[in-house]
Amino acid sequence: MFSSGCELCPRRCGKRPGFCGAGTLPRLFRWGPHFGEEPPIAGEKGSGCIFFSRCTMKCLYCQNSPWSWKGEGKDVSVEELSSIMRTLALEDKVENWNFVSPTPYLPFIRESYASLKKEGITLPTVWNSSGYERVETLQEYSELCDTALFDLRYSREETAVKASAAPGYVEMSRAAVKWAWENAGLIVRILVLPGHAEEAVENLKWLAKEVSNEVPVSIMSQYTPAYAALKTPPFDRSVTKEEYESVADAASDLGFECGWVQGYESSSPDLALLGENMTPGHGAVGQV
Ligand code: SF4
Ligand code: SF4
Repeated sequence: MFSSGCELCPRRCGKRPGFCGAGTLPRLFRWGPHFGEEPPIAGEKGSGCIFFSRCTMKCLYCQNSPWSWKGEGKDVSVEELSSIMRTLALEDKVENWNFVSPTPYLPFIRESYASLKKEGITLPTVWNSSGYERVETLQEYSELCDTALFDLRYSREETAVKASAAPGYVEMSRAAVKWAWENAGLIVRILVLPGHAEEAVENLKWLAKEVSNEVPVSIMSQYTPAYAALKTPPFDRSVTKEEYESVADAASDLGFECGWVQGYESSSPDLALLGENMTPGHGAVGQV
């Protein structure tokens, strides 16, 4: 499947394992119905989240580092992945299949999706990622992206490189967001980062000017210092009320009316959006 190397994400490693460490089988950390996503994604019955291990970025503040950086989880076959997706659809009756950090495993996910479709089982798909994507890949796997749940994390190259080791992030994530607006459903997540609130504002300005202020935005205050961030100012502290409000105010001033703004008071570690609080249910893959 990767005989000619892997070029799925902007790193274009050309080999497996590459930067992200993903191997030649999909590796899952956890899966199950999840109610912590934005309301249109969670719906009434929850979103069928499948958290893949490994990630194409390496954020020094990553709260998911056990599975994103260190690869905890369990390798599964395409058949096992299909079986998980079938269970989510038929037993849990979730609203959608929500692929979290899917990029290193897209060919497998597509195979599972296609085999279920042949059985007459299909659900809307959500591509849930950092936004560090190639438009060519989004186009190639567009059936896995009925809705894009993408971050716009940085507006400056130097921050993307320092905080996430992600060269080209600004250009790539903006192109991915633009593609999704034109070709799929889209929710943009803006995680306010300590000392970098102005980058969130710059991204909102770009979004309003170059895409539309009708894009639903989710402005998140839940940044919690973790992992390598604990030794890397300013990432070693929480976001201040002033920082958070400067971003929420900018969204309002720019005319964004569709979306979600967390109250600053809820900025204590609310890990629901990250899957930490996901209903155990079947979601024990890699947890035992
Ligand atoms: S994009 Fe998310 S999961 Fe990946 S390293 Fe960064 S914080 Fe962790
Ligand atoms: S998905 Fe992983 S292996 Fe493939 S190009 Fe990206 S970092 Fe490299």
